[in-house]
Amino acid sequence: MIFIITGVSGSGKSTIGSLLSKKTNLPFFDADDFHPKANVEKMTQGIPLDDHDRMPWLNTLSDKIAEWENSGGAILACSALKESYRQILQSIPGIVWVHLKGEKPLLEERLQNRKNHYMNPGLLTSQLETWEDPDYGFHLDVSNTPEELVNEILNHMESLNAPSHFGIIGMGVMGKSLALNMAEKGVPVAVYNRYVSGKEEKIASGFAEANSGFPLLKGFDDINDFLSNLESPRKILLMIPAGTAIDTQIEQLLPLLNQGDILIDGGNSFFEDSNRRSEYLEKKGINFIPMGVSGGEEGARKGPSIMPGGEIKSYELISPYLKKIAAKDKLGKACLTYVGPQGSGHFIKMVHNSIEYGEMQAIAETVHLMRYGLKLNPLEIAKVLREWQHEGLKSYLLEITADILEVKENNGFLVDMILDEAAQKGTGGWSLKTAIQNHVPYSALSEAVTARQLSAKKKERSELAKLYNHRFRAFADDKVLILEHLKNAYALTRIINHENGFNLMKEVSDNFQWKLDFSEIARIWTNGCIIRSTLMEELVQLFQNTDQILQDKNIIHRAKEWKSDLTYIVGLGLQHDFALPVMSAATNYLLGKIIDDSSANIIQAQRDYFGAHTYIRKDDPDKKPRHTDWITYKK
Ligand code: NAP
Repeated sequence: MIFIITGVSGSGKSTIGSLLSKKTNLPFFDADDFHPKANVEKMTQGIPLDDHDRMPWLNTLSDKIAEWENSGGAILACSALKESYRQILQSIPGIVWVHLKGEKPLLEERLQNRKNHYMNPGLLTSQLETWEDPDYGFHLDVSNTPEELVNEILNHMESLNAPSHFGIIGMGVMGKSLALNMAEKGVPVAVYNRYVSGKEEKIASGFAEANSGFPLLKGFDDINDFLSNLESPRKILLMIPAGTAIDTQIEQLLPLLNQGDILIDGGNSFFEDSNRRSEYLEKKGINFIPMGVSGGEEGARKGPSIMPGGEIKSYELISPYLKKIAAKDKLGKACLTYVGPQGSGHFIKMVHNSIEYGEMQAIAETVHLMRYGLKLNPLEIAKVLREWQHEGLKSYLLEITADILEVKENNGFLVDMILDEAAQKGTGGWSLKTAIQNHVPYSALSEAVTARQLSAKKKERSELAKLYNHRFRAFADDKVLILEHLKNAYALTRIINHENGFNLMKEVSDNFQWKLDFSEIARIWTNGCIIRSTLMEELVQLFQNTDQILQDKNIIHRAKEWKSDLTYIVGLGLQHDFALPVMSAATNYLLGKIIDDSSANIIQAQRDYFGAHTYIRKDDPDKKPRHTDWITYKK
């Protein structure tokens, strides 16, 4: 085993290394002793080394490390300030990196107390500036005593040989990022990926090997080895595609699991499938946790928003681990909550994604209006979106859209080279289906799904565009004024999108008696997830007073003010040949919802006319169904 102890001068590398050497009987080496003579002379004169000077020294150390590994291991103290230096030292897999870190005044004090050392204390500042903090390895605060630090390292090593606390199956985008996140936060984690001969071989062990800087990560290519490495009760997170893959994986695991083991489905499974699996696995004695995870690759790596359902007792067994890896809200609390029984965690993740669809489409429509109606170029649009970020509309999706618009390619923009066929995986459509089944008006968010479906018919659209001579027409009105209307129109659309999603959650929660806590759901969506925004932060408070977004007095005030902006923008856009599915659906939804006397009396009369479906009279307090013989009146 090779330990490399890194850190700037004064961090105590040699002291810790020597003490660790005594306790482990591994030989200790100081990297400074391997400098060529020319480097030592430079350092003695207080001249900083450059990368050119360091190369032969690092290459020597790299060879030595491989040599020491073959002879049973060693401990090396080496500043290794930059990642590129550490990469050179990484000549073998499985190195245990120990990074010593401390405040500058403490390090200065230690250097000043040193005697007979050629390091000039004046070089500390340059070393601290050069230090690139690694996102792996074991980080120690050097204000503790050397004995305490060495004990921490030894405890850490003990945990390396101990069983893993968590297992992850599926080394795709999400599984890999969550595994690194866990290992970095101190959770010993074992990973496994299916074996497909000639195609998917050694995925998990290869991943662990490629990330040998994460000593708590272990990769297994054999499912039995993987399961044997997990402490009991086993906690196994599935990060594989939704649908039959989950059922098949569960069936493969069942004969190998013990009663009380915990199986977590962290993918985007349909909540009704999760309800079914919850009942099935309960009968088998397995604790099943259907769990939504949001944040994409970056979120999973740095801190996602996590939405577990299932039995609360099982949740309590895994929550300490999830807390460590989740994003944190404004108050430092983990973006993690027990959502409710059965598939409720997957259900809210599905609605989260549905709101995400609506937000993405609303932003896409807004950008389109700016680009072809106002004739702004992508950089100008990005600038407007960035300004909106500071004007009450801050959101992750607006921010990344501005980033996207700024990416140039040759003389143009990358975004113009991207084929306009939007893909989807299921959550948007499932939400729409659930809304219809539960009689929940869902027009704005359902239009976001339809818009993607329409976009995917590219060939048909291209042909029809020619037949209809379609072209966008630029707006003649004042640009600044239109931008102001557009900002408010987008802001109101965003409120309607969220209202649609939270209404669906309320209806389904009532139907299943899940007792979802909407304020808490909004809270765990304020960070880590894709729809985090200032609006979401506002909803945390709002849901403490009401579960109806449109009944909140601040929202009423804004919606009244922005309603004319939305109707104006939708009218303007439609008249200039822009398709605005989500914005126009939001307008219709809002108007439909705030109208007392709607046109539905005509519908009821028509239904009764042709099908004797009956209707209720407004002036009947008993609400008795009535039928009229409309033909008689006709005569
Ligand atoms: P991915 O990159 O496509 O990886 C899927 C993983 O599952 C791979 O390791 C794959 O192994 C494995 N797999 C595929 N089919 C399998 C099967 N039949 N049996 C066992 N393993 C199988 O997917 P991902 O993006 O990590 O997503 C995983 C889950 O998280 C999905 O449900 C997804 O919807 C959800 N999710 C994704 C995101 C995101 O932003 N990507 C965000 C939240 C949630 P091979 O390498 O052997 O094919």
